[in-house]
Amino acid sequence: MSIVRFNALQQVFNREKVEITDVEKRSLLFGKNVFNKFAMQQYLTETAYNSVMDAIEKGTRIDRKIADQVAVSMKDWAMSKGATHYTHWFQPLTGATAEKHDAFFESINGGLALEKFDGKQLVQQEPDASSFPSGGIRNTFEARGYTAWDPTSPAFVYETTLCIPTIFVSYTGEALDNKTPLLRALQAVDYHATEVCKYFDKNANKVNATLGWEQEYFLIDEALFNSRPDLVLTGRTLLGKSSAKGQQLEDHYFGSIPRRSMKFMRDLEQECLLLGIPLKTRHNEVAPNQFEVAPIFEEANLAVDHNSLLMDVMDKVAKRHHFKVLFHEKPFNGVNGSGKHNNWSLMNESGTNLLSPGKTPMKNLQFLTFFINTIKAVKDYEELLRASVATVGNDHRLGANEAPPPIISVFIGKQLSEVLEELENVTKGKLSPEEKTDLKLNIIGKIPEILLDNTDRNRTSPFAFTGNKFEFRAVGSSANCAVPMTVLNTIVAKQLKEFKIEVDKLIKDKNLKKDEAIFNVLREYIKESKKIRFEGDGYSDSWIKEAKKRGLSHNVSTNDALEVLKSKSVIELFEEMNVFNAVELNARYEVYMTDFIKRLQIEGRVLGDIAKNHIIPIAILYQNTLLENTKNLKEIFSDDYKSMAKEQLELIKVISSHINQISQLTIAMIEERKLANNLSLEKKAAHYNAKVKPYFNQIRRHCDKLETMIDDNLWPLTKYREIFFTK
Ligand code: ADP
Ligand code: MG
Repeated sequence: MSIVRFNALQQVFNREKVEITDVEKRSLLFGKNVFNKFAMQQYLTETAYNSVMDAIEKGTRIDRKIADQVAVSMKDWAMSKGATHYTHWFQPLTGATAEKHDAFFESINGGLALEKFDGKQLVQQEPDASSFPSGGIRNTFEARGYTAWDPTSPAFVYETTLCIPTIFVSYTGEALDNKTPLLRALQAVDYHATEVCKYFDKNANKVNATLGWEQEYFLIDEALFNSRPDLVLTGRTLLGKSSAKGQQLEDHYFGSIPRRSMKFMRDLEQECLLLGIPLKTRHNEVAPNQFEVAPIFEEANLAVDHNSLLMDVMDKVAKRHHFKVLFHEKPFNGVNGSGKHNNWSLMNESGTNLLSPGKTPMKNLQFLTFFINTIKAVKDYEELLRASVATVGNDHRLGANEAPPPIISVFIGKQLSEVLEELENVTKGKLSPEEKTDLKLNIIGKIPEILLDNTDRNRTSPFAFTGNKFEFRAVGSSANCAVPMTVLNTIVAKQLKEFKIEVDKLIKDKNLKKDEAIFNVLREYIKESKKIRFEGDGYSDSWIKEAKKRGLSHNVSTNDALEVLKSKSVIELFEEMNVFNAVELNARYEVYMTDFIKRLQIEGRVLGDIAKNHIIPIAILYQNTLLENTKNLKEIFSDDYKSMAKEQLELIKVISSHINQISQLTIAMIEERKLANNLSLEKKAAHYNAKVKPYFNQIRRHCDKLETMIDDNLWPLTKYREIFFTK
């Protein structure tokens, strides 16, 4: 057996069986390493505490003197947790998180040293971050990017470092990260949703977006991972014949979690609880070695931070268990890929879920208002929503019969569809008293009991209403949730703004009562939004045709999906909502397109290397064995040899043919890459997508065929069955 493969398998067999014991009760662990309200109350003066609370709740500024106080207390608290360093923790456009650690330790005169940390260091830093992608915003000559404290996400201690969540902006104030636009979008949705809430409650003053993500991932042994150059360099397998047994027996889904994986999960959960990430569920997913972890939902900014942190912690904990976590959307052919459903809702300051029907007709009208406005927002900006989940990895998953297609539609279930149909018939203008009673009692009044037995869930919908929230299912497992959350909250904010304008206009010009005006506007929205609603099978071919007829976008590849970021209406939307200016938006377009190109380029190179330097040489080696054998047979059995070596002779020919094809296809792919590399960004991406990428599967097909022919002992790459089932 190839030495690499042999060693990898050997290592898995010899893994130490480490026992993990829960150190403390879970509830006692929760938030222990977070500078949360409880810790702040203990460590901060009352003035400082109130000032931080105001900053969190009302967005007020914290003055320098108070910041100094907060910094000192934060440092004392962090040191009590074993921290020696601090870092501004931020989310550059790579999609991951970044940190640069500085020690608290500072030397002072006379060879003495002190532990120091002041307000200035807390509030703002200038990391030397010139090589993060900025999409041209930040010229590297004046590589000035600043990180600035985001008090709405609490600081935490991880290992021996105090991590301070920050935004990352350029010298001129442009967002260089994923958090800044998210915060702006959340502010927009807060403002416009609150305005709408005032129709129902005069004292409304705050709306938070909530997010509950569900993270899917593969967990595989690190030795097996390291034995595959494609996994190491691209995060997915570029070749490999499907295992005879994969997910077809459906024996992994929700089955008992394998012991080694379970230990990893328990360890992970402990770490996450300490960091205040409220993990709640864990279970097996459909494919072998695929799992999901989900927390209790939180305010969206915090939930986004927690997902980014989780991904980082998962990597680190996995290392301790000799595992590797795969976040790629499609690491293996033939079994399901991974997604990250984003469950989203809106919540007012008293904790009422605005997408949850209430007890009174008025509460239900509020529910319908937010429900219908969300549908309308998705209808108006479906293409943008699709773009928000566009990555090279997710292109493999969307529409591959394991995830929704890259066509955005909204599923709401039978009962709510019926409610909307009835509302559609509401009379225009003023309502008669009888009509009002009928609406209140028979339509709006019935919603809560209907929803309780609303159990029909359509798994094939990319954007489904699931009783008290929408579930955006098209998000990829490796995504930073900030990107889709920025878009979703922005489009809903914009929609709510329009709604308020229209309702106010009807009240003023047509002299309608508030609820009459609301009904009138909602009725029109229901009519206008019909094309986005789809209750059928999203995986079917007939839906693709139907969606086309309806005029919905169907952008299969990332480069096509991203084009919408350059459209006038999208630029205007983001400018109006103060989320991105044109420069910031264009920067994202460039960063995402470049990422798409670079990843395809890397995949092309890695595949070429594996095919030429790993597969072909082994194929030749095996072919030589066959030739040798055939020659020997001939020598001993002379004329009889032909019938005796029938299989060998045939194999020798077939192997030659595959070798030739692999080699020709690889050369042709390299030629296309060369052509692509001379093109402008947009054309280059299109060329990579249309001309380079198709070779991947063609080359793979020949390699995978060879895998079925060549002596198992010689095959150089760890096989799918070994990755999935070596325990
Ligand atoms: P499923 O896997 O069937 O989609 P789960 O119960 O595993 O459902 O996941 C539901 C997710 O929805 C959880 O992450 C939960 O935190 C989240 N969630 C529940 N209520 C809300 C809400 N109001 N806002 C946002 N997310 C929510
Ligand atoms: Mg889900």
